[in-house]
Amino acid sequence: MSIQLTFHGAAQTTTGSMHRVDINGTSILLDCGLFQGHRKEAFERNRNFPFAPKSIDRVVISHAHIDHSGNLPSLVRRGFTGTILTTPATADLCDIMLRDSAYLQGKDVEYVNRRRQAQNKVPFEPLYTEADVDQTLSMIQPVPYGNPFELAPGTTATFHDAGHLLGSAVTLLQCTDGDKTIRLLFTGDLGRHNMPILNDPEQVQDVDVLITESTYGSRLHPPIADVMGRLKSFIEDIYHQHAKLIIPSFSVGRTQEIVYFLNQLYKQGRTPPVPIFVDSPLSTRATEVYRKHPECFDPETSDFLLNGHQPFNFHNLTYVTSTEDSMRLNERKGPAVIIASSGMCEGGRILHHLKHGLGNARNIVLFVGYQAANTLGRRIVEHESPIRIFGESYEVQARIHTINALSAHADRQELMDYITGMGRPVRQAFVIHGELTQSETLARAIRESGAGDVRVPAPGDTVTL
Ligand SMILES: [Zn+2]
Repeated sequence: MSIQLTFHGAAQTTTGSMHRVDINGTSILLDCGLFQGHRKEAFERNRNFPFAPKSIDRVVISHAHIDHSGNLPSLVRRGFTGTILTTPATADLCDIMLRDSAYLQGKDVEYVNRRRQAQNKVPFEPLYTEADVDQTLSMIQPVPYGNPFELAPGTTATFHDAGHLLGSAVTLLQCTDGDKTIRLLFTGDLGRHNMPILNDPEQVQDVDVLITESTYGSRLHPPIADVMGRLKSFIEDIYHQHAKLIIPSFSVGRTQEIVYFLNQLYKQGRTPPVPIFVDSPLSTRATEVYRKHPECFDPETSDFLLNGHQPFNFHNLTYVTSTEDSMRLNERKGPAVIIASSGMCEGGRILHHLKHGLGNARNIVLFVGYQAANTLGRRIVEHESPIRIFGESYEVQARIHTINALSAHADRQELMDYITGMGRPVRQAFVIHGELTQSETLARAIRESGAGDVRVPAPGDTVTL
């Protein structure tokens, strides 16, 4: 049996997840993520694949986050004609997220082309368009968790719940040749135990070769603090002050978690009936996909549903879609909770809410996700003031708070618990999807747990198993 692995993306970094597996002449891509970074580098890497797209037979997508699925339409536009395999919930999330991405690609190239036009240069084409997305979606074959399917002659694959995002999967490849079998596990992004809505990651056993993420390979998350208790105190605060609680949040995943927490607080009679607004068309569409996939819910959320509650709908919650209604929120007096994207305040409707709300010392801005360096969100968290929004300067008077307990990635201990939970030490491990120090720290821990050959591959590295 001949198995070759090539690590094309998310090797010694966390973006652009893409790994190639060649098994006895069949070429499979694990993930086809968008590379996100500096514009020029991203432009080059997302357009130019390090292989001929038509040489790929199948693509397996671990989950819908854009750094794992977002370059699929580009692969299709450039000649891929095979099948795309993923879970039904990921297929539905890809539908809305790839469309949103195509829209953003269009905007991005418009901006670049305006400058090129001024310099009399030939305009660029967008990375991909909505037509490419339509074509991509038509090539997806959804496969539920736990159903083995043939990936290549002699090789089956099975999705198991990764507990990271709705529909997210760890993928187990079982390659058989005569009496020899190799079990290869690709974690995609691994989630955590006891997170809202989603199931805990499903433990897979007896793995020979592991390809594991390492986003938090050297870090430990703070203990899951009392998220509901803190949300409750913020809501009581703004209720009494007639103020606003403004929550920047990613549209897919985090927004649904916050809504679910607020719903439980409200149903349990623990908070006053403050109007809550989810102001993001993408969030609204993503929530529809969540409603469609109760098979992905953990037992608590399923019980909540069985008791006649709608996890993502309640009396004082409104989903805002039109721009006019969104603008009306700016003039509205408190108390109110406004949840809007983007999560790091790099664009989207949150910017308008911050512009109107940051100057009021009674308001609270609550961050519920990671804020990368050089983002507006990070500047606000670090108490920079004044800050600039749409080219204008604003003093930050509002109170700034952060809930750090909601990371969707396993930390070092949780990754190691999962790896040692496989029963016997793996023979070979490849540590990917992390900054170099994170990957190396995790690699060391895996080695110490008894694994044979553990490597942190560089981009483009090829290994024959
Ligand atoms: Zn992810």
